Amino acid sequence: MNDPRALARQLDAGDPLAGFRTEFVLADDLIYLDGNSLGRLPRATATRLVEAVEQEWGTGLIRSWTQWIELSAQIGDELGAAALGAGRGQVLICDSTTVNLYKLLSAALAHQRDADSQRRVILTDDDNFPTDRFVAAGLAAHGQAVVRLLHTDPDLGVRAGDIENALAPGDVAVLSLSHVAYRSGALADLPRITELAHAHGALALWDLAHSVGSVPVDLDAAGVDLAVGCTYKYLNAGPGAPGFLYVRGDLIDRLDPPIWGWFGQRDQFAMAADHDPAPGITRFAAGTPPVLGLHAVRQGVALIAAAGIGALATKGRELTSYAAALSEEWLAPLGFRLASPESSTDRGAHLTLHHQRAWQICQAAISVDVVADYRTPDRLRVGPAPIYTRFIDVHDGLARIRDLVVAGEHLRFPEEVGAVT
Ligand SMILES: *Cc1c(COP(=O)(O)O)cnc(C)c1O
Repeated sequence: MNDPRALARQLDAGDPLAGFRTEFVLADDLIYLDGNSLGRLPRATATRLVEAVEQEWGTGLIRSWTQWIELSAQIGDELGAAALGAGRGQVLICDSTTVNLYKLLSAALAHQRDADSQRRVILTDDDNFPTDRFVAAGLAAHGQAVVRLLHTDPDLGVRAGDIENALAPGDVAVLSLSHVAYRSGALADLPRITELAHAHGALALWDLAHSVGSVPVDLDAAGVDLAVGCTYKYLNAGPGAPGFLYVRGDLIDRLDPPIWGWFGQRDQFAMAADHDPAPGITRFAAGTPPVLGLHAVRQGVALIAAAGIGALATKGRELTSYAAALSEEWLAPLGFRLASPESSTDRGAHLTLHHQRAWQICQAAISVDVVADYRTPDRLRVGPAPIYTRFIDVHDGLARIRDLVVAGEHLRFPEEVGAVT
């Protein structure tokens, strides 16, 4: 690259999403490259939450439930339209991604077992996100499933051919994978792999935590059975905001959720003696939803809808390509190596760099106001969320990292990895 800073300026000048940056709280000079872990705070969310607290809660009190009761399904539809390619009535905002994984896996296993008692396997991969592997292992420990762990390359992600071999025995009840790998950002071939699962009689469950709001997902078109994901990453709904679940329309009423909560009841306030699941996606609700979190999800979804998922994905690819090019030029000579797929079309919106001292470098970067994150054992994740990150941020952030490594400043930071990374 001739003049990478001039190039960043030029790319920012031509960025159709540039105007969205000011929709977010930018209180400091921080270079924030961690939008894939916790997105920034939208300004409208701060205002909306104050209003909801003061008016809906403060003044409306219990009367506000007439509106609150609909939010999980309403915002689910909004998210489905904005970022999931999902028609109405299939998406619910509720619980955490982990709890939603449990609910959907457990219901899917029971459904498959009813049809064929030999079909008990959850197929997942050994580099899937810990909670995804643990929930599957917990179901196995409780006698509901057998887990088959496929080995995948931590930099390149899951490949359709490997999945096909693991499906071949015909005993897989649910194939459970992440669409964008949390460590490397590798983008799985969701339509092709979903098709393979179906060809082998398995249901396909996708964890969209790192893809929702960063790359287009076309759940209906791909015939995906089940999906879950977070709202506090690229949807910017804030820490602890509820996750979402998707169940393919014609499957919904055939599944029996493992948690029979009163929010999933047909006529909730009849206070009936027996559980009678609501028709439709609401049957997957369990208890009282976090209403303030739901309001935050709605604001986050509205911003993603306004920006357009196509434009966000395009900018995400351009940002990571630019970061990869800078890394090749500046960081490779310092011992960094790209630990993500080479081509931006094979990635989500984050990029991962391997370095033996990644943890020390991550801490040193924070000390110079560059926030990326560290993932074991030796990876630095760079997540330039497309809706508010500029090319100049990527330039300056990587330049600071280059300079501190050249000066050996990272060596002053503890080698021992902290409890929260
Ligand atoms: C972030 C993330 C989660 C988090 O699950 P929570 O229940 O919200 O803590 C789950 N799966 C994947 C793939 C993630 O990246």
